[in-house]
Amino acid sequence: MIYLDNAATTKPVPEAVEAMLPYLTEYYGNPSSIYSFSDKSKNVIRDTRDFIAESLHTKSEEIYFTAGGSESDNWALKAAAEAYASKGKHIITSKIEHHAVLHACQYLEKQGYEVTYVGVDENGILNMEELKSAIREDTILISVMFANNEIGTIQPIKEIGALAREHGILFHTDAVQAYAQIPIDVEEMNIDMLSGSGHKFNGPKGIGFLYIRKGIKIRSFVHGGAQERSRRAGTENVPGIAGMGAAAKYSFKIMEEKIKKETEIRDYLIGRVLQEIPYTRLNGDRTRRLPGNANFSFRFIEGESMLIHLDQKGICASSGSACTSGSLDPSHVLLAIGLPHEIAHGSLRLTLSEETSKEDIDYVVDNLKEIVAYIRNMSPLYEDFVKAQKEN
Ligand SMILES: *Cc1c(COP(=O)(O)O)cnc(C)c1O
Repeated sequence: MIYLDNAATTKPVPEAVEAMLPYLTEYYGNPSSIYSFSDKSKNVIRDTRDFIAESLHTKSEEIYFTAGGSESDNWALKAAAEAYASKGKHIITSKIEHHAVLHACQYLEKQGYEVTYVGVDENGILNMEELKSAIREDTILISVMFANNEIGTIQPIKEIGALAREHGILFHTDAVQAYAQIPIDVEEMNIDMLSGSGHKFNGPKGIGFLYIRKGIKIRSFVHGGAQERSRRAGTENVPGIAGMGAAAKYSFKIMEEKIKKETEIRDYLIGRVLQEIPYTRLNGDRTRRLPGNANFSFRFIEGESMLIHLDQKGICASSGSACTSGSLDPSHVLLAIGLPHEIAHGSLRLTLSEETSKEDIDYVVDNLKEIVAYIRNMSPLYEDFVKAQKEN
């Protein structure tokens, strides 16, 4: 099997699994208990919190554990909206956010908030002029993702942070695709809240975190016990936290080397596909993109049928968006960069890991060429197109 769907989830590294095991077996103590048997649980929580804080260039008391990226996004948006409602009820986000942000915004619109969805250019980079002119007296929050999960585009986060700071507006970023993959400094980038998720950087699923800058008013997400400084009640997911901590340490250790390797292999993949498969385009910015992301549109092709053929060759990939598969709507991200529906439908996302080799890519591209040709040969649209080409 060749796994090229690392934007959907990643393979847990052995370090993460090994770090979890003791907390699933012998060290099962509740971290809130007084007796020393619980110290192991307390310690691994503290250690993970310290490491994540340090990796973001911030303080431990600003990191809150959650059940993943979706929860972190929901908490940041809904709780900030509520806490700052007396100042205003206007929120700004982008058209290409993950559904965890977009659907939370839609919920807030039903609660009487107003949301402006700022557009992006043809490569998926946020339109800064549009952002500037969207800012109003009553704007309380700007939420723009660090890097996009479909097309991999990395946003000008530092500029957005500076703009938000200048206007006294909170700035949240969904960094689920970026954290532990590329460097992030919340101080330098003026980020007030940041979402991360363990399973996107070789850790376990169902565990994540939200960074909340000290001094920000934000209400509790889960009411109950005093865990997470009384802001997110519930006995901590100790094995999950241990696994996420180990995964984060591993990811930061290999980051520099991984970026270099993935970028090289990604560029090789992009080069081969664009050169060898006609009527194909790359989606997303050529250079301001995640090291492991490639996203293509093939004309005269249905993304879903491509995935089925690739699966038969043992290749795991994704089309428009994993979250909308099952529905026939094309990806909102591909529409936002201006692709017509029929081209957005023929999209393929290949996301690499540090294990992906050049040989893997050769196997994938060789098969992809055949699959694309096979599907096109059955397409009446393609037949008409070829005929028209010949007549000209
Ligand atoms: C995966 C993902 C999420 C959701 O994270 P979960 O931990 O799966 O809830 C949110 N935002 C982005 C950009 C993602 O890629």
